[in-house]
Amino acid sequence: MHTCRNCNQSFQTELALELHRDTCQQGQLFCQVCGDRFQEADATQDGWHYECPSDDCDGDGLQEDLYRVDDVRTTTH
Ligand SMILES: [Zn+2]
Ligand SMILES: [Zn+2]
Repeated sequence: MHTCRNCNQSFQTELALELHRDTCQQGQLFCQVCGDRFQEADATQDGWHYECPSDDCDGDGLQEDLYRVDDVRTTTH
């Protein structure tokens, strides 16, 4: 069983989970260092300093390494 750590929904296969994570409404932040997604609450304790919750990733800083998914989607070049 594969569980989305953002919304705790369970999936039969890893592929199903991967597909879900692209659309998961709970995965609001995106780390461009490791490519992971997570909830805003997982990345910050105080709403001020943000860092990637992944143990093996040292991405930090909102608008530095971490971006809101909505911001990434609406950014045009
Ligand atoms: Zn989810
Ligand atoms: Zn990361």
